[in-house]
Amino acid sequence: MTLDIVGADLPVRLRSGATVRFAHLDYAASAPCARAAADAVQRLLPWYGSVHRGAGARSARSTLEYERARQAVADFTGARSDDTVVFTRNTTDALNLLAHALPAGTTTVVFDGEHHANLLPWPNAVRLPTPPDPDTAVALLDRALAGIAGPALFAVTGASNVTGELWPVRRLAAVAHSHGARVAVDAAQLAPHRPVDLDALGADYLAFSGHKLYAPFGAGALVGRADWLDAAEPYLRGGGASAAVGDHAGDVTWATGPARHEGGTPNLLGAVSLAAVCEALAAADRNALHAREQQLLARLQAGLADVPAAVPVSLFSDTHPRVGIVSLALPDHDAATVADRLGADHGVGVRAGQFCAHPLARRLTGATRPGGCATGPAALLRISFGLGTTDSDIDRVVAALSAETGSVASNEGLALLTAR
Ligand code: PMP
Repeated sequence: MTLDIVGADLPVRLRSGATVRFAHLDYAASAPCARAAADAVQRLLPWYGSVHRGAGARSARSTLEYERARQAVADFTGARSDDTVVFTRNTTDALNLLAHALPAGTTTVVFDGEHHANLLPWPNAVRLPTPPDPDTAVALLDRALAGIAGPALFAVTGASNVTGELWPVRRLAAVAHSHGARVAVDAAQLAPHRPVDLDALGADYLAFSGHKLYAPFGAGALVGRADWLDAAEPYLRGGGASAAVGDHAGDVTWATGPARHEGGTPNLLGAVSLAAVCEALAAADRNALHAREQQLLARLQAGLADVPAAVPVSLFSDTHPRVGIVSLALPDHDAATVADRLGADHGVGVRAGQFCAHPLARRLTGATRPGGCATGPAALLRISFGLGTTDSDIDRVVAALSAETGSVASNEGLALLTAR
């Protein structure tokens, strides 16, 4: 099983007519596919059939593979005996499922710097201002939970999709648990970069997406305590979620276990490819992957120091630990225009906008009003990378930014960087 990237050397034609290797630096939106995921799909294509629905060989094998995939995701996340794994479409779907399953009267506490997927699903939410540092985060959470009676859930991202910074999840989880609250971790950006063990994080629930984890689109997972999920009404009503249906409306016995929330024909290829990456990552040298990521990050940060028009933004501080994600404010430029030029004139793929974290983008840029997403005062330009990213990709984005923002030191700086 390999974590090599499929399509690592795609050629793109620039506006000038030249052809260059595409430098994909938008992993935080969707990462490219790992060979392990592609192989898993390829292996199953001749065989796939309907999961849990047939007696023939295809269906039997598909059911087996689907349940194996569930076990692989459980192993990847260190699922405990009272946890369950529900396959979902993505992180958004996983967090909405959890919101749906909350016991009546549960209050959810979130910081307002979350991705919208972890901001909007919660029916009864207390929003805390994004803190300037981890200590303040802990204090704010402690105070908020002390004022809440009844069941509570604290939902937090593992790594910011805007700044890449790691949230102090363990510390926050300890505070939440001291108040009897449960903890959900949005691991959409954490899982591709760091181990995501439920106990190590102090999490009761973890949500993540296959398409950010080097698998194709369409599958994600919610992993965590089974009791709330088992007691909840089915998330999607229909076949698969029902065990027995009578002749009268409402006369239905719902399925138990994960099937209760997986109504409809499951996305077998999505689950199997997601699981294949989980297994490949579990077998990989995570320390080496981490070291390589931090090397690329340092190279990028050093290069950006020579691009004064592009200002990296941080939640906590410039030196706070972060994964391979950096967002830039471009006070004198339109982020969308610069991103378009990077693509069309340099063959470098980045993303401009507010990255589905509008309150955070406004806070980081000092913008005062909600506005258009990719243009306008709150728009940022995000560079994000991971497996398969090369030194040259990093140098190219720095050079392209220099060229497009009229920064002067770029060529010299680049020559130095390349020589290192
Ligand atoms: N949370 C975070 C931190 C994310 O970065 C994203 C995707 N940008 C999501 C949730 C939502 O993921 P998906 O679109 O796969 O549902």
